[in-house]
Amino acid sequence: MTDHSLTTWQRELRAQFPIITANPGVAYLDSAATAQKPQPVLDAVMTYLTGENANAARGTYPWANRTTTRVEQARDRLRAFLGDPEPDRSGVHFVSGATEGLRAVARDWLAPQLRDGDEIVVAHADHQANILPWQEVAALARARGDRVTLIPMPYDAAHDYDAGRLADLLTPRTRMIAATHVHHVYGNDMHVSRLRAAAGPGVPICLDAAQSIGHLPVSVAGLDADFLVFSGHKAMALPGTGAIWARNRRGPLFRPGGWPGTPNTAGIVSLTAALDWLDAAGVDRIAAWTRDLGARLTGALAGLNGYEVLGCRTSLAADSTVQRRQGIVTFRHRTIGSHDLGFILAADGFLVRADGHCQGEQGEKTTSVRVSLHVHNTVGEIDRLVDRLAALNDA
Ligand code: PLP
Repeated sequence: MTDHSLTTWQRELRAQFPIITANPGVAYLDSAATAQKPQPVLDAVMTYLTGENANAARGTYPWANRTTTRVEQARDRLRAFLGDPEPDRSGVHFVSGATEGLRAVARDWLAPQLRDGDEIVVAHADHQANILPWQEVAALARARGDRVTLIPMPYDAAHDYDAGRLADLLTPRTRMIAATHVHHVYGNDMHVSRLRAAAGPGVPICLDAAQSIGHLPVSVAGLDADFLVFSGHKAMALPGTGAIWARNRRGPLFRPGGWPGTPNTAGIVSLTAALDWLDAAGVDRIAAWTRDLGARLTGALAGLNGYEVLGCRTSLAADSTVQRRQGIVTFRHRTIGSHDLGFILAADGFLVRADGHCQGEQGEKTTSVRVSLHVHNTVGEIDRLVDRLAALNDA
């Protein structure tokens, strides 16, 4: 695609976000927290709620049957979105988001299998949603007298997982590797496809894809993970949506515990619409667009000595061929506190995230400002942000 057609493509997509077009003075730079919703997603929800809203898997009348069908179709839609090579052999379970999904995999699938001496690999610099559930099941096992150990995932100097060192840490008692596809603070693609080679064929891998679905192409065929969990609301679906994709090859069939109750039918409808929208927009183009904007921002910040950009240093060098920040750039000012910087930026319409980003125990020790991008963001927004940051450089 030429630069010109890419710009036209982006302008047409941006115009589909009502909250963005209604607020021309605002730059929404917090898509990693939750993504804005394009009109077709909102339309799909409205059509459903005003046309055939009913409960799923319970009715004998057409609205209820169609709702049941929509839920089933949403499962197939997700499998197709993920390039599932064996759609007949995987399960899709809807949850409220990655937090609930990861906890369900840990508690409902892994916990009943844990025995004395077992180990779980956990990435302690990742999001707490992918740390706490594994700690919880290890603590539950210990409470009944089974010693279950958490093995810290090794990282390398570029904040990637160190697959070589990981291979040395694994034992026949390793029951799970809990990993993250794209890091929510550093924006790294964590190269999780290397984990399978390190793990060998037998160890289950659970992937937190909260920051990759909708941001870069994700294929479960290439990843060979057993579980992939994400938040639909970060992928342009409604709040309260998310899913667990489970392949069920390494261990018993995954079944969420307890009686599931009424599913979030409107949310599930929105997820199907969001996946349709993302596929039509082209996730590979979205990835390229947001990577370029992120590179523009990191490039500009590298010239401002008042700021420190977190994450892989190599990718900051002007001549670097490493540019792996997937539309997430996190930094701090050397003297202005990050919360203050967040408020200053918000006053000028730059909506960023300013805190510790729920990072785990080996995370950054102080707060920072995170800019996270999506397809509606523009070069103009980044340049205005850089101007504002430059004006604060010597503060
Ligand atoms: N995992 C990662 C990498 C995240 O960035 C987040 C949210 O920021 C979560 C998990 C938790 O997602 P949710 O709050 O939607 O459950």
